[in-house]
Amino acid sequence: MSELALLAEKLDAEDALAPVKGRFVLDDVVYLDGNSLGALPAHVPDRVADVVRRQWGELRIRSWEESGWWTAPERIGDRIAPLVGAAPGQIVVGDSTSVNVFKAVVAAVRMAGEGRTEILVDATTFPTDGYIAESAARLTGRTLRAVTPAEVPAALGGRTAAVLLNHVDYRTGRLHDLPALTAAIHASGALAVWDLCHSAGALPVGLDEHGVDLAIGCTYKFLNGGPGAPAYLYVRAEHQPRFDSPLPGWNSHSAPFDMSPSYAPAPGALRGRVGTPDILSMLALEAALEVWDDVSVTAARAKSLALTDFFLRCVRAYTEPGRVESVTPERHEERGSQVALRCADAGEVMKRLISRGVVGDFRYPDVLRFGFTPLYLGFAETERAARILGEELT
Ligand SMILES: *Cc1c(COP(=O)(O)O)cnc(C)c1O
Repeated sequence: MSELALLAEKLDAEDALAPVKGRFVLDDVVYLDGNSLGALPAHVPDRVADVVRRQWGELRIRSWEESGWWTAPERIGDRIAPLVGAAPGQIVVGDSTSVNVFKAVVAAVRMAGEGRTEILVDATTFPTDGYIAESAARLTGRTLRAVTPAEVPAALGGRTAAVLLNHVDYRTGRLHDLPALTAAIHASGALAVWDLCHSAGALPVGLDEHGVDLAIGCTYKFLNGGPGAPAYLYVRAEHQPRFDSPLPGWNSHSAPFDMSPSYAPAPGALRGRVGTPDILSMLALEAALEVWDDVSVTAARAKSLALTDFFLRCVRAYTEPGRVESVTPERHEERGSQVALRCADAGEVMKRLISRGVVGDFRYPDVLRFGFTPLYLGFAETERAARILGEELT
């Protein structure tokens, strides 16, 4: 056994989160794509079967009350809240991330007021956020300017209405400085909207602590909610009375069953709701979140950093110098929960890796992306992935 393989065994033996792996359905594949689709928690299929067979099949319409369907968006929001550093009553679950980006950006611009005519968007953003921000700008009569997160402080001014940023860059895995950027955005009088898709469930976010105004995120990556699981929207408590949704569906009405022809928004985070929630995927997500019951985000973060540190060390040991270039920052303060390696033949290399049971993904044109999910990934697998990668790169 190599020195690194022995070290991996030791790290696995000392890992307090190692038993959490048993809560997931896994096989021999080294699954490094949990930042795209989290693995299945083992108890979810039975829970979904119960929702379908008993709640829907037997209770039918009664389940809106008796099975808690109607209140699921805010109940599950409160379950996500501690994972992103939010007190209860500020998060609702529902719709896709893309739709929630739209709600958040338009609502932020409306709160910022008429005199503020520009929206800033992360130039390196996951594309959907940029497309939606562009449409939100057109609809609200604002201009949109794309700047990198590093350029944000200099771009801010009295005209800035809102800034939409990704907490972790989906391509490079770079973690942006949410506290400092939020403070700079507030100093200019604008609102900060953060997309947490690649940070929630992998590292502490601290939404309340850092004064974030609005946030959105998906639940099928590090939160393991399942394919197409609904996203969430955070509206800071102090902003809720002024949150003016561009999609004021009946589920966000203060008295939805009065069927009133005129709209009156519900108090609180409920304002972020739109229409009838997608109960099947929402309740699968609720069950999936139980894997967090006795796991702290701080512990998950510590292990995530240990895993990515170890992977980078193994890659350096097993790969010819210069064959790949890491585009993921070395400094922990700047690193999310993935490692992205650049090489010209990345697409071909990833295909070979997948055929050998190491599943990461390829991001056009030249990035090999490996997501490290601290809840179900171990050090021995990490060493194996780096060793096979090294073999495929020779
Ligand atoms: C994954 C991801 C999305 C996905 O949006 P959907 O509406 O769920 O397809 C959006 N934004 C970011 C930053 C992402 O990483």
